[in-house]
Amino acid sequence: MRRLGAHMSISGGLPRALERGRTLGCNTVQFFLKNARSWRSRVLDDGERGEFLMLKDRLGLEPLIAHCSYLINIASPNPSLYERSIEALREELLRTQALGIPYYVLHPGSPTGTGEQEGLYRIARALNLLLQDLQGVMVLLETTARGIGSRFENFARILEMLEEEQKVGICIDTCHLWVAGYDIADPRGYEETLKELDDLIGLEKLKVVHLNDSKAPRGSGRDRHEHIGFGKLGPEPFRWLLQDERLKELPFIIETPKGVTPEGEDWDEVNLRILRSLEGEDEDKGDSGGYRP
Ligand SMILES: [Zn+2]
Ligand SMILES: [Zn+2]
Repeated sequence: MRRLGAHMSISGGLPRALERGRTLGCNTVQFFLKNARSWRSRVLDDGERGEFLMLKDRLGLEPLIAHCSYLINIASPNPSLYERSIEALREELLRTQALGIPYYVLHPGSPTGTGEQEGLYRIARALNLLLQDLQGVMVLLETTARGIGSRFENFARILEMLEEEQKVGICIDTCHLWVAGYDIADPRGYEETLKELDDLIGLEKLKVVHLNDSKAPRGSGRDRHEHIGFGKLGPEPFRWLLQDERLKELPFIIETPKGVTPEGEDWDEVNLRILRSLEGEDEDKGDSGGYRP
């Protein structure tokens, strides 16, 4: 059985994300460390940290994955935003370390108006600054829908510029790869995408996979997540990923829209069930868990 989970809300405190994941039947969970749309960070007191660590051991959710908040932009050409981003990132990484979380997913950021090369340089500079003090946490740069991070070459270039490249890995997102132009819905395109990733970065650098279908067409650059099998990707690429021997140790996380189906079922439950059935299904049966989008 693959390690399969969802991005969970931290409303009510960080330990609640773990409990929510457990209730859904996840065996890995991703969450924000704080409100993702605010610079402010709530103080994490000893009680909350203690409860988190206790639940982490008890619930067997592995690995836990922290996701960066949205305001951080370490590619920014604006000096004050750049500095602020570095400080916010430092705080989030220290919190990740204090909570014993092995992976921290980071959006590479946008060079807004300036060139890609300068943006890549600023990202590498910020990471070099922050990684020195970091122990036991790997920063995973996530593939993006457009701009920096939408081509594997971008990650190869950043890794080259790092002093401690062993502390940085990659997180791929199926929706982002697709809208960035990678044809992962075609069997040959799927193979070529993985080969390109291996050639330019190395498959061993890939640590987390985000499973999201896409509302937007390939190459559109528009990041709109859809339920598994209900979007432009369809169920096939998810089956290939979940049955790919090369990826069998990796955690797979859904970040599909929240809410309930017209039948009143929780969408996370439905998406996870579809993925579990794709994982165990033969190619020629072509039946995605009774769900026909
Ligand atoms: Zn993602
Ligand atoms: Zn996205």
